[in-house]
Amino acid sequence: MPLSIDHDYITRTLVDLVRINSVNPSLAADGAGEGEIAAYIEGALRRIGLDVETQEPLSGRKNVIGMLPGAGGGRSLMLNAHTDTVGVEGMAAPFSGDIRDGRVYGRGAFDMKASAAACLGMLKALVDEGIQPGGDVYFTAVIDEEAGSAGTEAIVANYHADAAIITEPTGLRVCGGHRGFWNIEITTTGRAAHGSHYETGIDANTMMGRLLVEIEKLAQDLITQAGHPLLGPSSVHVPLIQGGTSRYVYAAQCRAELEWRSIPGEDRDSMVAVLQAFVDRLHTADPQFRATITPLFGRDSYAVAPDAPIVQAVSQAAQRIRGVDPGFYGEKWWMDSALLGSAGIETVIIGPAGGGAHAAVEWVELDSVMMFTRILAEATLDFCRAGG
Ligand SMILES: [Zn+2]
Repeated sequence: MPLSIDHDYITRTLVDLVRINSVNPSLAADGAGEGEIAAYIEGALRRIGLDVETQEPLSGRKNVIGMLPGAGGGRSLMLNAHTDTVGVEGMAAPFSGDIRDGRVYGRGAFDMKASAAACLGMLKALVDEGIQPGGDVYFTAVIDEEAGSAGTEAIVANYHADAAIITEPTGLRVCGGHRGFWNIEITTTGRAAHGSHYETGIDANTMMGRLLVEIEKLAQDLITQAGHPLLGPSSVHVPLIQGGTSRYVYAAQCRAELEWRSIPGEDRDSMVAVLQAFVDRLHTADPQFRATITPLFGRDSYAVAPDAPIVQAVSQAAQRIRGVDPGFYGEKWWMDSALLGSAGIETVIIGPAGGGAHAAVEWVELDSVMMFTRILAEATLDFCRAGG
């Protein structure tokens, strides 16, 4: 140390990756998917001299796994970067890879092709200098993180490591977790009748109103709690609602969807139980009130212990290289770390600085990408060292 990092290689790789359209086809009908970018990364890993395996969790969309075998006696580590991006609507030049004022521009530059380029740059530096970590190092370039996370799901089904680093962009801060989310369907049932027939009609929409009052109280209550030490409070809102069929007919049904952004200690069943208790109470007060609660889709929250060895290795490397405390924070949105965590792989999140993820102008700061590569290298060698 210090390891010599090939800045030109990393910049060139990043620009090449941005120029490849890898828009997730589940998000945009014209999304090219991860076929071409997987082939590029596979080639890059082979040129570095690593063993490469692939998986195809979805048709034509490949995970690429590069493996640097350890010398023995150290812990294994998995680096993870997703290769898909969100769509490019409203972007003037989404695949330009233009470099201006020390920034690389384009869809995915920040979220998160720079991180993939940094992982490749780090592995190349280790191989070029003949430095072998004690434990095995895996780089998993995964598909579909922006939609269904089929990529990381396939990784945890077939690969394991003692810890993982999700290289999502964090501005070089250390992230220890994020909230989960669950979409839960609520349906109130009334009785259809002509608008003039108050004696037979039961209005499912006003029934939903009673439930919404309870949900609003819950929403207010949750955000005033301290919540989780790293992630803060959980929150709920009702993003979708639809009731009735005609201006002159009592609504027979009203359907709403609630989204609950969860913290550790809250899971699908506990959230459903809270909502079911509202339904039961309202039904007891008025037997005409009828509602059902149905969980639709969600993902759990994740939080790693601050004293986990991978958190320590990454935090210390970031502190040394940045010269400032890299912090330890919780992110508001969901990431693949929850899947790795629930597979028993302690996971921390760190990546470069930039902006415009999912927005019309996206960029990454090249200086931060180089610094990030160095942090990754030092954290990897420390975490994977023999006897570590
Ligand atoms: Zn991302």
